Amino acid sequence: MTLRDDKIYILGIESSCDETAVSILSWVYKNKHKAKPKDLALAGQSKLCSDLVFSQIDQHAAFGGVVPEIAARAHLDIMDQLIKNALQEANISLEEIHAIAVTAGPGLIGGLMVGLMSAKTLALIHNKPLIGVNHLEGHALTPRLTDQISYPYLLLLVSGGHTQILLIKGLGDYERLATTIDDAIGEAFDKSAKLLGLGYPGGPKVEQAAISGDPKRFDLPRPLKGKAELDMSFSGLKTAVRRQVEQLEAVTEQDIADLCASFQLAVSDVICNRISRAMALFEERYNEAHPTIVVAGGVAANKTIRGDLDKLCHAQDKNWRMIAPPLNLCTDNAAMIAWAGLEHYLSKTKFDTNHGLEIEARSRWPLDEQANNLVGHGRRGAKV
Ligand code: AMP
Ligand code: MG
Repeated sequence: MTLRDDKIYILGIESSCDETAVSILSWVYKNKHKAKPKDLALAGQSKLCSDLVFSQIDQHAAFGGVVPEIAARAHLDIMDQLIKNALQEANISLEEIHAIAVTAGPGLIGGLMVGLMSAKTLALIHNKPLIGVNHLEGHALTPRLTDQISYPYLLLLVSGGHTQILLIKGLGDYERLATTIDDAIGEAFDKSAKLLGLGYPGGPKVEQAAISGDPKRFDLPRPLKGKAELDMSFSGLKTAVRRQVEQLEAVTEQDIADLCASFQLAVSDVICNRISRAMALFEERYNEAHPTIVVAGGVAANKTIRGDLDKLCHAQDKNWRMIAPPLNLCTDNAAMIAWAGLEHYLSKTKFDTNHGLEIEARSRWPLDEQANNLVGHGRRGAKV
């Protein structure tokens, strides 16, 4: 990569679960006369020229979760039109794109293949390098796009398919500190909502119902809280909600609100307990004046969890801060894939012709390949 005057444009494509997304990111180096800085990506000005997301939620709602086959077909139906729209909105042609970044995993294999095949076709026809991005890396690096956060930082990734605490040390250098040993948090929200008859996706419905609920009414368990290891568990919590429902004679709206509030409090308690340990671990390793914890993924939309994490930061001796990317960049999107692609593009000096055409879709692709292979880790599967 040579730092010329012109802007760099990256086309990002995402189709790992139930959102088809296409984004075009532009980046220009601000100080081209200065020596190349260590963290080049942050030394540039980036802009989202287009950022389109087409959600399939309506097509899956009746099933209470994502149906892989429906997801793949829906991606296929919309992908080419979405790419066309994104280019139109950014007002550029494919010729002007420097590289194509596409989610290569982890995720539902059918959807991933739709994205990869579209990206490969464009890369081949227009002779552009193709960069296969790990979906989790997209989430992990988003705060660098939105808030110019430099390495290292802590990341709490909480979504429908993932629950992980990661140490983001540098590009491609990620250490998983914790994962769930069973359900992902979003999954626990969705399943609890389902058994309370609240519909899908459950997270926002539980949060809404919890507003008028008493979080102290039901004494739900805090699985693994206080354990030395950082791993989490949420399936017991969901079962506890079911048991409480079974014990109630007739479930009133107030019961549902109280259960939702109690559930949310239990989840938040567990998260804060684990994160405080992760913060201590971070402080042992790094001497950052202003350490950062980033929260990303669909569950990061939850205001109770955000608020409690913020309080946790303020309660620390060190000057911790919590960063949550804007909601549209917290959930699945292609801007994060374009940004991760940009970081990889900037980190290389040269791309061979046909670079990336050998990339294969990977349904499992842990960010930290060294970490133990626990259930729920590196997984992004059907939630039905
Ligand atoms: P993602 O997997 O990142 O697309 O996020 C979707 C997941 O986030 C689903 O499991 C949702 O139930 C969950 N979610 C979305 N909004 C909220 C919320 N406000 N509170 C809790 N969970 C949420
Ligand atoms: Mg999603």
